[in-house]
Amino acid sequence: MTKSEINISVAVPVYNEIESLPELYDRVKTVMDDLGEPWELILIDDGSTDGSSEWIEAISVDDPHVRPVMFARNFGHQIAVTAGMDFSQGRAVIIMDSDLQDPPEVISDLVEKWREGYEIVYAVRTEREGETWFKKTTAALFYRLINRITDVEIPLDTGDFRLMDRQAVDALSQMRERHRFPRAMAAWVGFRQTGVPYKRAARFAGETKYPFRKMLRLALNAITGFSYFPLQIATYLGFFAAGVSIIAIPIVIAFRLVGSPAFLGQATTLIAVLFLGGVQLISLGILGEYIGRIYDEAKGRPLYIVRNPISLENKINPKEGNKKRHDRSHN
Ligand code: UDP
Ligand code: MG
Repeated sequence: MTKSEINISVAVPVYNEIESLPELYDRVKTVMDDLGEPWELILIDDGSTDGSSEWIEAISVDDPHVRPVMFARNFGHQIAVTAGMDFSQGRAVIIMDSDLQDPPEVISDLVEKWREGYEIVYAVRTEREGETWFKKTTAALFYRLINRITDVEIPLDTGDFRLMDRQAVDALSQMRERHRFPRAMAAWVGFRQTGVPYKRAARFAGETKYPFRKMLRLALNAITGFSYFPLQIATYLGFFAAGVSIIAIPIVIAFRLVGSPAFLGQATTLIAVLFLGGVQLISLGILGEYIGRIYDEAKGRPLYIVRNPISLENKINPKEGNKKRHDRSHN
């Protein structure tokens, strides 16, 4: 199948999802065959160890619609999504999870909106099944925070489940940052965007690959990637502490002059030292968070390493993606 023949790519990151994969494949196939457009299913194996890799390799031999991208190790969900977009050939690309929380049947709604002319169509969850109270609350708080301190508006109740037009995919492919938050990046590129409501299902099988630690890291990516606000907190706190001391110094001197015992003793000193020490360490930590990210970007390593040559053959270099794609369509 050559590039120009494919209209719709479905890109799915997979990390140890052997129990869901057959069902996922069946349902995607049914939906895509019904749509009647040439399609491909890109399965990005993010270093699975449960047999998912072997399953993906086998199905790709049986069904030419399936294109495997096998990572050399686990690079993480966001990076796998990026690889899916890099290798996709369709005029529209759909990103969805492999645990069937994003029902493949919603794809036809996404495609319909795309045909109406929207370049980005995100799926908006109206209900979430089988997710903990904790996850829902932290997610709600997080989106409120992000929309407040960053310039990008992330539509509420959206995840990574979305359709993107080739133009939007190419725009995103140029953003090679290592610490990624695709939802905000998709909002950042602009284009005509709209949402389609859907009911987010419970995980089909297995357990979440997003423990709290990873969620926290993702939240940090979102904040540091789109905002300087944390860096400015140090400045605000500095002004606050300086302001307090300017008021406090004359007061303490006045108390001393009249011989009052107030403000004598170690406790006052200790509190002030601890408070300022704490503020300084936190500020250093925030600085470190940004510097570490600068260092990572400066190294300029590839975002991921793929171990199967099949995909590499079709690999589109994002920097010259348009050119190559253009050349090919004339072959
Ligand atoms: N995933 C991945 N690499 C990882 C972790 C997760 O490719 O390191 C995939 C996983 O297989 C799934 C999707 O990313 O298709 C979302 O993960 P999960 O369902 O565990 O997240 P949750 O829905 O619980 O937020
Ligand atoms: Mg999930």
